[in-house]
Amino acid sequence: MKITRISVFQKDLPLSDPYWLSGGRLRFDVLDATLVKVETDAGITGWGEGTPWGHTYVPAHGPGIRAGIETMASAVLGLDPRKLELVERALDLSLPGHLYAKQPIDMACWDILGQSCGLPIADLLGGKRENGTVAASSVSSGAPDYMMGIIENYRKLGYSAHSAKVGGSDTDEDIKRIRHIESHRADNEIVLYDVNRAWTRREAAIVMNAVADLGVTFEQPGETLDDIERIRQVTTSPISVDESLVTLQDAARIARDGIADVFGIKLNRVGGLTKARRIRDIAQAHGIQMFIMATGGSVLADTEAAHLAQSIPQEFIRACWSCQDMLDIDIAPGSGPRCVNGVITIDDTPGLGVTPDEHILGKPVAVYTH
Ligand code: MG
Repeated sequence: MKITRISVFQKDLPLSDPYWLSGGRLRFDVLDATLVKVETDAGITGWGEGTPWGHTYVPAHGPGIRAGIETMASAVLGLDPRKLELVERALDLSLPGHLYAKQPIDMACWDILGQSCGLPIADLLGGKRENGTVAASSVSSGAPDYMMGIIENYRKLGYSAHSAKVGGSDTDEDIKRIRHIESHRADNEIVLYDVNRAWTRREAAIVMNAVADLGVTFEQPGETLDDIERIRQVTTSPISVDESLVTLQDAARIARDGIADVFGIKLNRVGGLTKARRIRDIAQAHGIQMFIMATGGSVLADTEAAHLAQSIPQEFIRACWSCQDMLDIDIAPGSGPRCVNGVITIDDTPGLGVTPDEHILGKPVAVYTH
């Protein structure tokens, strides 16, 4: 089997409500999605999606994905998409780094491999758990009552896990946010407090020590792994790392040095499933739990993450994410798994199990052929 054609589509995905990070420092209204259709000489077509969370969140942006694919396309045309690590090597040789541009191609190859052997991607990753994965909401930063209102809306949809965005420059306000949400948290709910790198080491120590009695988990409480390693030494709360978990070497360092208790594995950030499954294995080998998610996007991006999440034993998976629930648009109506009562469940459809509606995507912005 050979890759014969790669078509690239751009689609704006408007958010239903404006979204704030870092205590209101960063605002997001629309996501720039890149959809990739990979065709083969065997008549099997795979789909991928790369959707960064805007261009101010991590070093990734929509135009960068499309430029990266333009640079890498000739290196993968003609390859067998089922030989995932040969495709990975070709991508890495043709463009070192730029992991976020590689993830949608890698995803489409996994989709093709699954279809070619009649198995869902979760089974290719080792075997699909029977039950689905709890989805965590993503709660925009704001005043304590505003954030609690968002959580209550998600509760009505059946959500029992939430990622609440904190990390303002006013430490007192962050302490109020956390205490307010915790005082209204139901017994069956888990809330992760996500700082998104916004605190200095001093601010992290102040807030985390002020709420240490609550035993809540903080995600990415500092900019770098060096910062988080230091924050770890002067605080006691559990820590999750996501934005600083990029390479296998990062994963090995975090595990070996005990920098975090939870890995937040973002598929677009780490370069796709081929690389993410190795990070998953390091986590499991070191007793580290995982959140699995896209960096954003449609049902396609959510589904890729849900496959990886459902390949992870129950005791190691905390939650995945259903970003599609935050969008004003559905690019694959009637196709793919949806979040039902706060849980995403992969079925036995071979491959990814979701196909976008090309009428909604419009014409491709680029086509590369062998
Ligand atoms: Mg996070």
